[in-house]
Amino acid sequence: MDLRSQQCPGCGLSGPQIFRETFRDPYFGQDYRLFECSQCGLQYWEPRRIIPEFYEKAYLREYRARHEGRLKRLKYYHLEFFKNFARFSGVRPRLLDVGCGNGLFLKQARERGFEPWGIDLDQYSVRFASEKLGLSRVLALDLAGFFQKAQQENWRFEFITAFEVLEHQDHLKDFLDRVFRLLVPGGFFVGTVPNRENFFRMEHPGSFVDYPPNHFFRFNQQSLKILLEKAGFEKVVVYDIREPFYKYLKNLEKFTWQKVVRAPKNVGGNYKRIVKIFRFFRALCLRPVLLFPALILRERISYPVLYFQAQKTRGSDG
Ligand SMILES: [Zn+2]
Repeated sequence: MDLRSQQCPGCGLSGPQIFRETFRDPYFGQDYRLFECSQCGLQYWEPRRIIPEFYEKAYLREYRARHEGRLKRLKYYHLEFFKNFARFSGVRPRLLDVGCGNGLFLKQARERGFEPWGIDLDQYSVRFASEKLGLSRVLALDLAGFFQKAQQENWRFEFITAFEVLEHQDHLKDFLDRVFRLLVPGGFFVGTVPNRENFFRMEHPGSFVDYPPNHFFRFNQQSLKILLEKAGFEKVVVYDIREPFYKYLKNLEKFTWQKVVRAPKNVGGNYKRIVKIFRFFRALCLRPVLLFPALILRERISYPVLYFQAQKTRGSDG
């Protein structure tokens, strides 16, 4: 085992860090190294520096479309929030959604009695949220920029949410510190991250979504819980969300195909239609066969998304 002593960006302890792998990103040619903390189990890439051009360029157009523009229905992990925090009447708790995308989640929150606030770096999404959905408190800022403004205006929140956001951060501790300070005492921080102990995780996924400069962190339940507790939160709850059955079956089909038949490849635009037809027939043949194993596995596997919920019980406001 290759060990070195350095400070963990999660738990903050200086202890042996296990070297896991290297990766050269195909976009900028930057070399990264993956470490795992022997104390809390967090995996993190080095160096960590958000490259804004990365998000602006077309590389991730599909990814962005999936996350923002074309997102028409709420994700199942958004609904998990409303399972735990149903409906409010009378007082309208202020909710800030960090990385709010096109604002669908905030729209739903507004209907359920929250006062919706949101920030996102993507200008198009912010414009959609304010013009099409009538969300007036959505700003094109990152959390650092918003924090500054909030300090001047003395804005505080009962809820802050961050769905699929923490893994993108380069300064995770600063991020969590700002969230903590923006919450009122008793306020909740809620969100999701990818689960690295996901059953469907593949070594060579054929896409670089879970690599830097897109993702800088890989969490499991334990490391996420410790991270939030170290940031000052209490009553921390972390669990993997069971996917809706249709989504689960789709994942199982993809997983089986790639394990048994071949490793996935990125296919160019011209073949998209053919691939679509092929996938339709693959589903038609494979899914009935997978139905029985799927039912058996349903209770036993860990799912791709980790949900967390944490409370700021102490004062230390501002
Ligand atoms: Zn650690």
